[in-house]
Amino acid sequence: MEQRTIRIETLGDLAAHGYGLNATCERCRHRVDLAVWALIARLGRSFVYVGKTIDSRLRCSRCGERGAAVQIHTALNPWKPDGPQ
Ligand SMILES: [Zn+2]
Repeated sequence: MEQRTIRIETLGDLAAHGYGLNATCERCRHRVDLAVWALIARLGRSFVYVGKTIDSRLRCSRCGERGAAVQIHTALNPWKPDGPQ
């Protein structure tokens, strides 16, 4: 079996592979989909989102808490390359 490793570290990588980002508020659990294209427009395609780089820029629209948890959103990806059938 061929093992493919995809490195997705920047906003440009996310867009290229059809992934999005979710942000979940640590305080009230409010969850939103982030618009990757809008983040690219603000931060650039080479912006590295891993770590806490984006988290500290986000503010919850419901409770105002800073520091949401960001996760990759895979629902935009129509393929399941190695998933069990
Ligand atoms: Zn909140």
